[in-house]
Amino acid sequence: FLADKLDNTFRKLRGLGKISEKNISDALKDIRVALLEADVEFSVAREFIAHVKEQAMGTEVLKSIKPGEQIVKIFRDEIAELLGGDVATLDLTDPARILVVGLNGAGKTTTSAKLALRLKKEGRRPLLVACDLIRPAAIDQLATLAKQIDVPVFTPAPGEKDVVRVAREALQWAKTQDGTVIIFDTAGRQEVDEELIGELKRLNDYIDPRETLLVVDAATGQQAVQVACTFNNAVGITGIVMTKLDGDARGGAALSMRSVTGKPIKFAGEGEKLDQFGPFVPDRLADRILGMGDIVGLVEHAAARIDEEQAMKSAQRMAEGKFDFNDFLDQMRMMQSLGPLEGLLGLLPGFGKLKKQIPAGALDPKRMKHMEAIVLSMTKKERSNPMLLNPSRRRRISAGSGRPIFEVNKLIKNFTEMKKMMSGKGKMGAMMKQMAGSM
Ligand code: GDP
Ligand code: MG
Repeated sequence: FLADKLDNTFRKLRGLGKISEKNISDALKDIRVALLEADVEFSVAREFIAHVKEQAMGTEVLKSIKPGEQIVKIFRDEIAELLGGDVATLDLTDPARILVVGLNGAGKTTTSAKLALRLKKEGRRPLLVACDLIRPAAIDQLATLAKQIDVPVFTPAPGEKDVVRVAREALQWAKTQDGTVIIFDTAGRQEVDEELIGELKRLNDYIDPRETLLVVDAATGQQAVQVACTFNNAVGITGIVMTKLDGDARGGAALSMRSVTGKPIKFAGEGEKLDQFGPFVPDRLADRILGMGDIVGLVEHAAARIDEEQAMKSAQRMAEGKFDFNDFLDQMRMMQSLGPLEGLLGLLPGFGKLKKQIPAGALDPKRMKHMEAIVLSMTKKERSNPMLLNPSRRRRISAGSGRPIFEVNKLIKNFTEMKKMMSGKGKMGAMMKQMAGSM
């Protein structure tokens, strides 16, 4: 695995007191592999490496105590510079119109809604327009999302085929809606084709948008460059939105596209939920590419939600073997408030390895809900003293929680075992995994 390999390289470098030119080239070789494996386009990677090398050679790195870290820093800085100044600003001067384009499944419809929600939170009054006349369900999809966020949406008449007519009608409709910014969701194709480009050009000419955002799946490979160039040449994009950065993809496509189009990466999509969306952060991409995990993101995200004092208290109780079902409930709620666990774990370094160890579906929120239901059906006394849980109490809990008795038994058994195992160690994550995997 590449991330492991890089880990090794940097460990090697860190171990050495001083760094030689050869060490630098070795590290750069690995960074080059990292870039390519992250799907950064070949020539972009080559050029990038040349920059990093230049920087590395020119600095005082050679006398540094931790040369490996220096190179990582240079690498991060270079990425930040390449993607530099990319901030999530949009030109929303009146008439503010945003055209959302991209391939099929890239996340255009989702992004349109996410953007609308974000703008709404900023105090603007967004409107959505469904211009995907190709996929039958696309219009409903946008309408449903719009409803969720309570944003007015224009949907074309059934059977409508002319996208420019839709745009014209939508602009008429918009006049009656008291909106301040209109977002047009468009159709995609599996790959760039002339028909798609022709349609987008006509739409683009008609709408004359302030912003044309190209939505790209972070997992897009080497073809990212071609996709970006084609869309940019056809409609002149003003920015890029990387989606699915919550997944495994290292997102090298961002680097390629930024590099060849010169257009900023403005936003990042980080989940299917409509609030999982925000400004793109170059440093995090650097770490992803290096396989170091998004520590900053993790810390920020977790810090916002975790009650630190509470967490310490639980860890302490666990270490003392006093951990009971009340603590368990607190823990579970904290975990749930963190959102999809997998998204969170994805931010951790070495997640690739970890993920393999977790049984599929173990972190399923539904199972968490079931566990919670069982624990909630216990009395407070039972929760603090699980020894009380005799068969008749267990039957009552099963009936109360609506979960089968075997599930209740299993949860209690696993809890007891886990508690034994964990006392003195305080491994919260492992514990949750064990509990979740047990049902
Ligand atoms: P479109 O064909 O470009 O309009 O793509 P959609 O908006 O319909 O999205 C395709 C799929 O990707 C849907 O299942 C979305 O929920 C999902 N999706 C979109 N953005 C993200 C994201 O940032 N993260 C994740 N995990 N899924 C996403
Ligand atoms: Mg769509």
